[in-house]
Formats: sequence, C-alpha cells, structure tokens
Amino acid sequence: MRIPLLAVVTGAVVCIAAPLLMSEPALAAPRVVTQVTHTDSAADSAARSLPTALTKNRIYRSGSVGTMNCAPSAPQNGSAASVTRFLAQVRVCLNRLWTKQFDKVGLSFRAPKVVVSTRLTRSPCRKLTVTTPAHYCPTSQAIYVRLFKTDIKQPFALALAKTLAHEYGHHVQKRTGILNAFYNLYFRTSGTTARRVLNHRMELQAECLSGVFLSASSDSLPVDFEQYDWILKWTTKNASDTEHGKGRNIAYWLNRGYTSGSVNGCNTWIAPASRAV
Ligand SMILES: [Zn+2]
Repeated sequence: MRIPLLAVVTGAVVCIAAPLLMSEPALAAPRVVTQVTHTDSAADSAARSLPTALTKNRIYRSGSVGTMNCAPSAPQNGSAASVTRFLAQVRVCLNRLWTKQFDKVGLSFRAPKVVVSTRLTRSPCRKLTVTTPAHYCPTSQAIYVRLFKTDIKQPFALALAKTLAHEYGHHVQKRTGILNAFYNLYFRTSGTTARRVLNHRMELQAECLSGVFLSASSDSLPVDFEQYDWILKWTTKNASDTEHGKGRNIAYWLNRGYTSGSVNGCNTWIAPASRAV
C-alpha cells in the first residue's frame, strides 16, 4: 500500500498529496459510517485568529454540488493506456464540477495541467517515486501522476479517481487563495506542533474536496459502496502519518465531503483540533 506524499517547499516539509491507493483491494464487509458534527467552541475562537481566506473563503458559499454524469470507461487490468484514459475522463468531470462551483460565486477556475505517465521521474517540485507517485505542484499549477506497475496490473478505479480528485482539491485551494494563505501562515508560525496541525488542515481539506467530487459523481462513476467503505477502513487503519494526521481523521474528512456534497462541509480551518491531529 502506498503512503502519503510529501513536498519540500523552501526548506520546510509541506504535504500536497494524498494517501495513495491505486490498485485493487480485497473487499471487506460493508460498514455504516456515522457522521460527526463540530461543536467545539474552542475551535471557533482559534479560527477567529486565522486569515479569512481560510475560514470564510467565498468558495464555501458555492452550495451543493448536486449530481453530475461522469461515466469514464473502466480501466482494464494490465493496460496503462486504459488507466490513462480513465484518468483523462475523470479529469474532464473534475473540470466541469469545479468550473460550475467557481462560477456560482464569481471565482475563476482554470483547469490545471495534468501529466500522467509510466515513465515520469520528477515534476518541477519533486521526484516521483513508488511512495510518492502523485502530487500537485503549486508553482506550475499542475498535477503529476506516475503510474507504477502495480497500479496498472490491477487498477482500482475508485481510488484512482479519488487520488486525482484530491490533487484537484489542492488546485481548488490554489485558485481560491487558500493555498497561498496557508503557506503565508505556515511559514510565520513557529512550533512544530502548530505547523503540523496547519498542514493537516490543508491536507484534510483536499481529502474532503475529493469526497465532494465522489458525492457528485457517485451514481455514474460509479462509487461502489463496498469499495468506498473499504477505502474508509483502509485509510482509518493504515494512512496515519505525521504530515497528514491520523487515518481516522483522513477518513472522516473524505466521508464528510462525500456525505455533505458541499465545499462548505470541508472547512477544516474551523474544525476542532481533535479533527486535525
Ligand atoms: Zn494532498
């Protein structure tokens, strides 16, 4: 299984990618996931000191994403071309969704460049390796995905879509000013723990935005419940790390985006610290 990606930005480690899982899992029995709401008033007071670009960004008012028709051709086992085609089709859906949401609130969405390759070894930002095969590079506003043999041998369509949607989440953050506000705040914040929590909020928001996309496209993608539930379980159990936070919180925010179907459900900046550790 893959681990989360890291990106080195002016000497500090900041993550701009997702826990990666792109090959077919063994399915486990379905489990009902319960939604938890935020009630911590301490989080509200903490949020008051954060830039409004993070806490009150206009994109939060873009409303429900509703449903969209996104029916990419399923990737075939052993076919890199079919995996690439699948991601290209999902990309079209992502562009459609985010163009619509940005338009609703008078923001300009420009599609990111997306590079998918079986041979790509690095982007302008960093190396692409088996443990860091995909990431968003803010300087080029581009997404880079390296397909490794295991991803092609038995591609996991839902996880591939989720991964691309997570990277689009970072692009949404970039286009709305969230990512720049985050970087400014991060580099003037002292203390490893404080920085780490900020980084988690940024990453968890991207994960939540991938859930928003899955929500909009769930009927036509399709999002198979057993596979989705398997991802939540796998993430809860295996995805914890110091940069992204606890696996249970990553799964929580993915599912919060999925169940809310709204960017407003992804305001990680005002969530209790317990949801960003
Ligand atoms: Zn990320």
